[in-house]
Amino acid sequence: MTRSVRDWRVKLMQAHPRLFGIPFGRPDAAKGYPNCEEGWRDLLERCCVRIETALVGGGALTVVQIKQKFGALRFYWTGDLPDAAKAKVDEAIALAAARSACTCETCGAEGRLYSRNGWLATACPEHAKGELKPIRLGFENIHIVRTFGPGRFPIVSCRRYIRETDCFVDVDPKSLESRSSGMARITRDWRIDLIEAYPDLFHPLPNNPGVAEASPECGAGWQDLLERACARIRAAAQADGGSFKFTQIKEKYATARLYWEGALSPEADARVEEIIDLAEARSACTCEVCGAEGRLHRAGGWLMTRCAAHGQGHSVPEKPGWENVTISRVDARGAKTVVVKRRRYVRETDNFIEIDPLIIGEGG
Ligand SMILES: [Zn+2]
Ligand SMILES: [Zn+2]
Repeated sequence: MTRSVRDWRVKLMQAHPRLFGIPFGRPDAAKGYPNCEEGWRDLLERCCVRIETALVGGGALTVVQIKQKFGALRFYWTGDLPDAAKAKVDEAIALAAARSACTCETCGAEGRLYSRNGWLATACPEHAKGELKPIRLGFENIHIVRTFGPGRFPIVSCRRYIRETDCFVDVDPKSLESRSSGMARITRDWRIDLIEAYPDLFHPLPNNPGVAEASPECGAGWQDLLERACARIRAAAQADGGSFKFTQIKEKYATARLYWEGALSPEADARVEEIIDLAEARSACTCEVCGAEGRLHRAGGWLMTRCAAHGQGHSVPEKPGWENVTISRVDARGAKTVVVKRRRYVRETDNFIEIDPLIIGEGG
């Protein structure tokens, strides 16, 4: 253990014994032991003071978890509170979460969201690692609360967090829409648009509607095929009534990979898998940069799907007859793998056709 008893986390908990149940002699074993870095210490202290104030009128709560997720603070509690106190506690936590989203977790200076290999962190320029996540112009520190009903996602509140004064101000959602359609054409990021168009599939952060775990990590040339996949998956999931959430979308070995979790009927599950197979097959013949028809290129050890204009290195020759053929295999327990399906993806019509294995022979 490198953490001494003088840890700021322990001090925070000891300063608010009403909120943190500390097992005897083991502050680090308390459920609410803050699992974040010292840059957020100040906002946590402020939050705890506000919660204590909210409890003056009655009620009690216990902090069950404090952690960083997707670059922002998560603060969970359990307890029984009068409605007025609960509203104040929720507001104290919303303020702390909003502040964390613009405060370097390492040093406490003003920060922004960065992504490094899919890991999100809020950092100042000095402590930043990875790439700055784009924010749509006008959407800085905007926190939108929506209800997630089937089909429609009405906005409950739309507020901007003001870091200087540590408060929220109400913002008319319509003013954001007009600004984004007019001024922000250049800085508009297609990933944010996609996530905002499909919150039912991406489950974006409740206070940051353009940020989701599965924000696509691939080039804009695949935007179109991802949009198509999303529209189809929404139709399949809504008809089924089950649940669906993208967990990761990325490029790997020059093709798109779409991962998800959820609970769907076996029929809907198969339908979704088919939609994803189509998207992945399309990515294998679509330039990741511009969306034109593309082929597999190799530059050094790097594989990519590119059109002739965007290709680097050289295009990888395909065996005649094997263009756009995808093969599904299952591992038959103990035996060698067995070919289940052999299909050709037809780019023009965006579908598969079964092909006779004899035409292209075994191997490959
Ligand atoms: Zn910093
Ligand atoms: Zn291209």
